[in-house]
Amino acid sequence: MALEVTLFAVFIAALITALTTGLGALPLALSKNVGQKWLSAGAAIAAGLMLAASHTLIEEGMAKQEWLTLAGIATGLILVYLAYQGIERQNAPDIGELNDADAKKMLMIVGVMTAHSFAEGIGVGVSYGGGQDLGLLITATIAIHNIPEGLAIALILVPRGMSVLRAAGWSIFSSLPQPLVAVPAYMFVNTFQSILPFGLGLAAGAMIWMVFAELLPDANKELQPATIGVIVVFAFLSMMIFQISI
Ligand SMILES: [Zn+2]
Repeated sequence: MALEVTLFAVFIAALITALTTGLGALPLALSKNVGQKWLSAGAAIAAGLMLAASHTLIEEGMAKQEWLTLAGIATGLILVYLAYQGIERQNAPDIGELNDADAKKMLMIVGVMTAHSFAEGIGVGVSYGGGQDLGLLITATIAIHNIPEGLAIALILVPRGMSVLRAAGWSIFSSLPQPLVAVPAYMFVNTFQSILPFGLGLAAGAMIWMVFAELLPDANKELQPATIGVIVVFAFLSMMIFQISI
């Protein structure tokens, strides 16, 4: 019986990490008129947040197994590039408020963030294998780091005309792999522990590609390169401060 309770606890903990992602969209409810300039500024902020998240993923992976992490980064790049080529060739999905180009961009961003949640779901499950205390610590860390990631997603979607509530929904969606993967990762902790560095690297490789291929071109539309640099570094710093202060 004790095992069932724990599995349920792992699931609930990881579910909470998914829900906190939606909180990240809420600041955008405050400013209703998000114009072109916000589209660029939002992209620059999202770029800094995602670079910092990638840094943390790589740092964690490297501490466990260096070569597996690097192999993960290379694989992440290949997969995200192939996914991008695939999406470009398709007709755009019909996402009510968004035009075709924006719908494709949304698909890439939500897709990459959802894929990176798989690695974090493994992280939650595996950490519970190290005991309840470690599990709770990692869960809390991931839950809090999901908030700026939700913000990063909303910063891309809301300036393109999506409602804040729907953007929050997509942010939560991007984190749903966390509760789904955490449970098997906890049950088969040894197997998942060995592939975790690969997953962390894979997530980071895909996210770094996205920063340069999808976010910086948006930032460049309305902002000077020097200004973008300032915003990116500030966003990076904020994310790191956020992570060490919890
Ligand atoms: Zn993350």
